[in-house]
Amino acid sequence: MSEANENLTAPEEGSSNFIHTFVTEDIAENGQFAGQRVHTRFPPEPNGYLHIGHAKAICVDFGTAEKFGGLCNLRMDDTNPTKEDTEYVDAIKEDIQWLGFTWDDRFHYASDYFDTMYELAVKLIQKGLAYVCELTPEQMHDNRGDLSHPAISPYRDRPMEESLDLFARMKAGEFEDGRMTLRAKIDLTSGNFNLRDPVIYRINHMKHHRTGEKWCIYPMYDFAHPIEDAMEKITHSLCTLEFEAHRPLYDWVIDNIDLPAKPRQIEFARLGINNTVMSKRKLRKLVEGGYVSGWDDPRMPTLCGLRRRGFTPASIRNFCERIGVSKVNSTVDYGFLEHCLREDLNENARRTMAVLHPVKLVLTNYPEEQTEEFEVENNPERPEDGTRSVTFSRELWIESGDFLEEPVKGYRRLFPGNEVRLKTAYIVRCTGCDKNEDGTIKTVYAEYDPQTRGGNTPDGRKVRGTIHWVDANNCAEAEVRLYGSLFTVPEPEQEEDFLTVLNPNSLEVLYGCKVEPSMKEADAKTAFQFMREGYFCFDKDSAPEHLIFNRSVSLKDGFKPQK
Ligand code: ATP
Ligand code: MG
Repeated sequence: MSEANENLTAPEEGSSNFIHTFVTEDIAENGQFAGQRVHTRFPPEPNGYLHIGHAKAICVDFGTAEKFGGLCNLRMDDTNPTKEDTEYVDAIKEDIQWLGFTWDDRFHYASDYFDTMYELAVKLIQKGLAYVCELTPEQMHDNRGDLSHPAISPYRDRPMEESLDLFARMKAGEFEDGRMTLRAKIDLTSGNFNLRDPVIYRINHMKHHRTGEKWCIYPMYDFAHPIEDAMEKITHSLCTLEFEAHRPLYDWVIDNIDLPAKPRQIEFARLGINNTVMSKRKLRKLVEGGYVSGWDDPRMPTLCGLRRRGFTPASIRNFCERIGVSKVNSTVDYGFLEHCLREDLNENARRTMAVLHPVKLVLTNYPEEQTEEFEVENNPERPEDGTRSVTFSRELWIESGDFLEEPVKGYRRLFPGNEVRLKTAYIVRCTGCDKNEDGTIKTVYAEYDPQTRGGNTPDGRKVRGTIHWVDANNCAEAEVRLYGSLFTVPEPEQEEDFLTVLNPNSLEVLYGCKVEPSMKEADAKTAFQFMREGYFCFDKDSAPEHLIFNRSVSLKDGFKPQK
């Protein structure tokens, strides 16, 4: 879809929500739903895990209900047994709850309506509005006509009794898959091809994750969905833009079947994000092909992947709120999602020091047996998060990049003769280094200035660089996982084979990183800022003796709103 490329957006902040405008009109005095409580639904198909695109739909569906003091149902749209599974049902529930939405007892399965749907289909046949057709899918395709020719449907005038009989026998399992279909009798000349006698039931001898072998015919989405909505007395059926051309069929079903409610379908644009793929089919390929570690791999755009990456529910809801709702498909910059996370974490993450590429710093004039404690704030943005004590002694770990034997222009960190501040502790002057046989730095030496405890200079001398450190005598080791984009191109969805543009370097694993000992008590609920390094979270692969942290997002904001 080229229109997506042209609309790479920085979202318009505070853009108005046209759905809210429609709903407001509908519940006003003369509106279609005057005096009624707004009732929406979120209808995922349990054939995969939810992704960030679904989060948008969830925020629209649950959010609209919330805004109008209404209700939102969660409904598993399980009318196609092909890839459905209860594993997905549980995961979907977990993800929606994690985002902070609830449905109480308003949880449904589309499959609960199979009996009703069957009866309603029979009634349609009796009304002369549906018939059993024996065209193969290929023949039906060849006979669909074009804008100047109507479709041809040779079974259209089959007597009602015959259709009733055949439909019952379809249900009874007499025919193999594809042998017959039930079609609605609407309009073979319609400019909207969805109305050219669409198939509403097909044969599929397949075990359903809930109804088992009971059914071998299944209703098509366009027939099933309006019935599900009406049975649940949904007022507003919010869905994505690709269903716009199906709305006349949605309304036809509502108008021609006796149902307890008359919902209104409103379509909004799908969310697209660059640097990733979002269709479940492609995400499943990544999982099944072993290109990622699972649906919850932190590089995946799934909600469980984002959660494991350290995204917070607030950051995702805020993102969905800010990208707004529109009628035009567009692609949002992945950087904007990260921007929303960074904003949240900047406010809420616990600060800690971690050294990812350690090199030893020895303070030659610091007494060997001595250890000091510094009381450090957990989050300077939130004094209520308290403090922790950090120990300091003669041997410390520092980032290897914070020392250069021969400084380049503008380098302000450690090099022989230069002074830097060790964050919250002392000012030290570098005196030299030892090297390994291969030329890499083994140990950096420095002398500390006892007059500068806390990092202040009593004489007011200027020290430009500040680096972080971890006490080598009192620290924990950790594995740290750094993530990059899964793809090497911004629009992998446009590729013929998206697997050819997988980024082979999307995961970098660092071993032997040094973290403060308090990190041994880390849990998945707390977000961390490793000072100067980025935001990190505890990974579930961790064991007590093997800590693992994921980088959620770097500190630096690469997102630049476009004009
Ligand atoms: P996919 O194409 O990823 O398989 P889907 O549309 O088949 O997605 P469903 O489980 O049917 O997945 O989706 C449930 C709801 O979420 C639908 O109402 C659908 O319109 C909405 N949805 C899915 N993807 C997006 C998206 N990228 N942006 C907004 N809404 C989405
Ligand atoms: Mg779908």
